[in-house]
Amino acid sequence: MIPYGRQEITEDDIDAVVDVLRSDFLTQGPVVPKFECAVAEMAAARHAVAVNSATSALHIACLALGLGPGGRLWTVPNTFVASANCGRYCGAEIDFVDIDPQTWNISIAALREKLDTADRDDCLPDILLPVHFAGQPTEQEAIWDLATKYGFKVLEDASHAIGASRNGEPVGSCRWSDVTIFSFHPVKIMTSGEGGIALTNDAELADRMSLLRSHGITRDADRFTGDDNPESWYYEQQLLGFNYRMTDIHAASGLSQLGRVSGNVDRRNVLAMRYDEEFADLRLHIPTIQSGHRSAFHLYVVRLPVNHGSELRSCVFNAMRRQGIGVNVHYLPVHLQPYYHNLGFTSGDFPHAEEHAKRGLTLPLYPALSEQQQDTVINSLRSHL
Ligand SMILES: *Cc1c(COP(=O)(O)O)cnc(C)c1O
Repeated sequence: MIPYGRQEITEDDIDAVVDVLRSDFLTQGPVVPKFECAVAEMAAARHAVAVNSATSALHIACLALGLGPGGRLWTVPNTFVASANCGRYCGAEIDFVDIDPQTWNISIAALREKLDTADRDDCLPDILLPVHFAGQPTEQEAIWDLATKYGFKVLEDASHAIGASRNGEPVGSCRWSDVTIFSFHPVKIMTSGEGGIALTNDAELADRMSLLRSHGITRDADRFTGDDNPESWYYEQQLLGFNYRMTDIHAASGLSQLGRVSGNVDRRNVLAMRYDEEFADLRLHIPTIQSGHRSAFHLYVVRLPVNHGSELRSCVFNAMRRQGIGVNVHYLPVHLQPYYHNLGFTSGDFPHAEEHAKRGLTLPLYPALSEQQQDTVINSLRSHL
């Protein structure tokens, strides 16, 4: 079986994890802060808060940005459900903005139009959550301009995009957003087993997210509000937080992998270009990478041609699976999931995301994919079109 994605674990990664297991601290030791500094430096952001998943990172980011009951969060439909669920955890209403049919990222035109209407109806979003789909950066400057004009916060879901950049600016720098999150789930660009991180340039937001990560507790005497003369055992719970901490075991894997992100993203780009070239003569939409963008190529998604309304994608998908090729679909639009359908969304609401979901096919792409395996994928897809 050739899977659609696969983690890469080296002997160095294993040694780094074993070192932690032999050390004094399995959690809340020295490795998590080291990992946080290293990710912040690589992404050119000032602060980083590592947590046990990107889903947790999204949750504490939403809370730190002030989202609550009656609030509104907008995201895109072609994403993993966590991008919308984080708003629901806070009791907020979710709405979606359709995607651009070329880049498959949030459509700036659709966003502009929806904001204009929402402004008139007095229901502007509190948070916009754009997703760097498949690893291609979103158009953050345009989004930030609109955020300034309409007064909403921007939370980038860069689960697919560590190692990506736009005009030389790394995704994660938060130059045009309030917070950016990465995921370290094994299928993503790099992994800590499970894990995620929230990046920001705002020290206050970083503090609030750190508190929320660990029960709302602080041990920092400078921040105490109660006891004036605290003894050394004293700590304070200042708000209602969670146990979303990353362990040192996970951080060691992440820290060891971080140094390979750039090389692995290079490799992903080489393989993606090879797919592009091999598919040039087929009736396929290959990924459109905007000029000045370096995609992290978490996913390589092609869009199959419209075939007289027949179920071409389903035929190709099943035939390739039967040949041991782990093709996949990213994503069933979130608004069509039963949970969101029950909240009132329905088919036809976001036509570009729905069209993408009907015709998109995710092909295997990961650093260890050999050219021979890639040829198997290419020949298989060719033979079924
Ligand atoms: C994977 C993913 C998440 C969730 O990541 P976890 O680390 O598994 O919680 C959120 N958003 C997107 C777009 C993802 O692909």
